[in-house]
Amino acid sequence: MLILRDAAYWDGESDEVRRADITCGHDEIRAVHARGAAPRAADSDVELDLAGRYLLPGLIDGHAHLVWSSGQDPAETVEADGEQLTVLRAAMHAREHLAAGVTTIADLGSNWDIAISVARAIETGVFDGPTVIAAGRTVIMTGGHDPFWGVASDGVDAVVRAVRGQAFRGAGIIKTAATGGVYGRPKGEDVHDGELSYPELAALAGEAHRRGLKVAAHALGTEGIRDAVRAGIDIIEHGVFLDDALVGDMVQRGTYLCPTVAIYRSIADAATTGSAPAYATRKAERVVDAHRTSVAKALEAGIPLVAGTDAGSPGMPHGNLVAELEALVDCGVPVVTALRAATSTAADALGRPELGRVRPGASADLVVTDRNPFEGVDALRAPTTVIRSGQVIRP
Ligand SMILES: [Zn+2]
Repeated sequence: MLILRDAAYWDGESDEVRRADITCGHDEIRAVHARGAAPRAADSDVELDLAGRYLLPGLIDGHAHLVWSSGQDPAETVEADGEQLTVLRAAMHAREHLAAGVTTIADLGSNWDIAISVARAIETGVFDGPTVIAAGRTVIMTGGHDPFWGVASDGVDAVVRAVRGQAFRGAGIIKTAATGGVYGRPKGEDVHDGELSYPELAALAGEAHRRGLKVAAHALGTEGIRDAVRAGIDIIEHGVFLDDALVGDMVQRGTYLCPTVAIYRSIADAATTGSAPAYATRKAERVVDAHRTSVAKALEAGIPLVAGTDAGSPGMPHGNLVAELEALVDCGVPVVTALRAATSTAADALGRPELGRVRPGASADLVVTDRNPFEGVDALRAPTTVIRSGQVIRP
């Protein structure tokens, strides 16, 4: 048993910090005791005195790509490195998330389904890492966004087959694309181009839900987002060009938004930093203002927000969730809403309510910080201690 004494803890949902003793078993939080009321430690127990420190649920990054190395052109790096070196890099990237207090990631696209293998390796104890909820390859139209890791699927039968294929390979979520994107390839797609059609997206979402899987759709342009929302997609990734009607639809359907604000800002700034290819910078410059407006609209309407970094993309290192939390706060998102976006709201979006919370029965994934995160999300930048499945991992 792990005994955490005198912790100032945030439960992942409320808007206050309370003091308590907390006990954890191997996987679960066993009890939240009154301060000073935890049992005496037995020889086999591990005890931490957290007086003066803050305890939060382990963080969740709702959008990452373990195969990508966050260099100037990570897709090209994968092609040059090949499968075996990319597997090793992906394992290292997973560990970088964990060291930064990110105890769960959603991996939304990986060549050769590598993220599914990484997820399984961590789950079976091959090495310590975060829980990985992996899409593996994405389900896209022929010539769609990120073709290097997509299963090209045209027509209702083909998308249903692709969803079943990913489920059979062990995917924990299905990722699709409803529009083109900013980064990926120099030519052949625009953020306003529609990709999988409404009937294809509806068939995809229906089949994923029959298999018990959530669906995340890459969608930037308004028409593509509209098709995805109406098709019953669970999480809109990016969601750059929202309009009022769409926002209303999303609220009514309970659609989540994972805006990934920081990555587009970073790619737009690459004109000076050189951290991304020039074609991507030109496209990012045209989305950042609209993105900010859309996040404000979503916030005001009460659309549940998920924090996602698109980690591994140009200039976005793994384990950098604080960058997205800071970008959200900069868009006007209250600190507590940003913290929920990285804990309980993200867990709900991914269909894993046992994650992202401090309460009996929740996963024993926790982070400890020196500073109060309610006073600024950068308190999470260097956690003093990370606990994953009840095991203390020191960064
Ligand atoms: Zn992505």
